[in-house]
Amino acid sequence: MSEILHAVKGMNDVLPETAEAFLSTAVWDKVIDTARRVIEGYGYRQVLIPIVEETALFARGIGEGTDIVSKEMYTFSDRGERSLTLRPEGTAGCVRAFIEHGFAKTDPVQKWWYIGPMFRAERPQKGRYRQFYQIGAELYGASDPAADAEVIVMMWRICQALGLKDVTPRVNTLGDKESRDRYRDVLRGYMRANVDTLCDACKARIETNPLRFLDCKNPACKEVARKAPDIMESLSAQSRAHFDKVTTYLRDCGLAYVRDAALVRGLDYYSETTFELTTSALGAQDAVGGGGRYDGLIEELGGTPTPAIGFAMGVERLALLVAATQQVASGPHLFIAPMAGAESFALQLADAVRTGGPYRVEVDVTGRKLKGQMRRADKVGARFALVLGEDEIARRHGNLKDLRVSSTSDVALTGDAICAALAKLIA
Ligand code: ATP
Ligand code: MG
Repeated sequence: MSEILHAVKGMNDVLPETAEAFLSTAVWDKVIDTARRVIEGYGYRQVLIPIVEETALFARGIGEGTDIVSKEMYTFSDRGERSLTLRPEGTAGCVRAFIEHGFAKTDPVQKWWYIGPMFRAERPQKGRYRQFYQIGAELYGASDPAADAEVIVMMWRICQALGLKDVTPRVNTLGDKESRDRYRDVLRGYMRANVDTLCDACKARIETNPLRFLDCKNPACKEVARKAPDIMESLSAQSRAHFDKVTTYLRDCGLAYVRDAALVRGLDYYSETTFELTTSALGAQDAVGGGGRYDGLIEELGGTPTPAIGFAMGVERLALLVAATQQVASGPHLFIAPMAGAESFALQLADAVRTGGPYRVEVDVTGRKLKGQMRRADKVGARFALVLGEDEIARRHGNLKDLRVSSTSDVALTGDAICAALAKLIA
């Protein structure tokens, strides 16, 4: 016997049947289909971007000093000795494509969305994996605060459409460059005054990246950060006006957000509005999604200056929340069990039902006895079963059996009649 091989640590299989409900296909379909419907309802169109990019794109786009670039990337040399990286996030690749295809010149207002796997070498735990999926959206060419508000509301609407109750929108602003420079100095002064209490990483951050001190997870740093000066005091008049409008629009749209002064986000490219959706249901992995405005990134990567804003949501974390609170049905609506001799009729009837309505129909093609077929109907979670024997075919009538409540109803054996019956019974 040869040794069996295992999936790489921190990388999951999503399957029709699983021990862990959040890794089931039915839950993922629900998350992805719902997100797609909501996002496309806002006029976004899907893009498919490579999973591998030149390492330099992420180093320049995400920032050398970030956790992602400094310690979480899967980087390798290809056969031509080029340094390539498995994408740790989707924004950099989208921006690369936006620039490469010249959209800034033809039509800079682009609304894109994507779904796909991302890779980060993190310590795997619940809600944190090395390969994980993100659903994200990017809006280019719009600098108005209405764009920020709409994107935040859209992200919130995805959670609502998924029936998630325990999700809080948090918003903050990092201001424009001038505001951020001013705030960094203020923060440096405050950190120096408290330097003895700070962790070593934050001591180093005084010089390199004082903003990151605000989201340090160390309890002592957290306590000091809680009383840190607020960026609001350092904002330029323009940045303050922008943020005021964003929050006004959010309130007008009925969004109960929380202003979170510590929300600086882990990527270097953000400016002005930042936001996150958090939950208390996932322990330490409390962020369901996040994003922000990144007006400087396109120019930074060599493109024509273009304002941009976007977000990404973690599919695994959404799936964990859905699986914890809901039963997601994925079994066939109708299971047809043909007795010997009824196979051809069953195949044709099933096809007619599929053509006539939005129903999942499974014909048992195992050639087993009735008992075995009904066991399978149960196992795949079918809602209704229809047994076809000589008698049913002769009469062109059968019994639609509701497998949940074991009642039956008589139905004519045509696609239309069965679709009509299912529509009535399932509603
Ligand atoms: P966290 O603070 O949890 O590390 P992050 O700020 O690194 O999150 P982003 O880069 O903003 O996350 O990615 C957006 C979303 O992608 C997160 O809110 C989360 O839902 C999801 N996500 C990020 N990293 C992982 C991971 N390693 N495994 C699963 N989902 C992840
Ligand atoms: Mg992270």
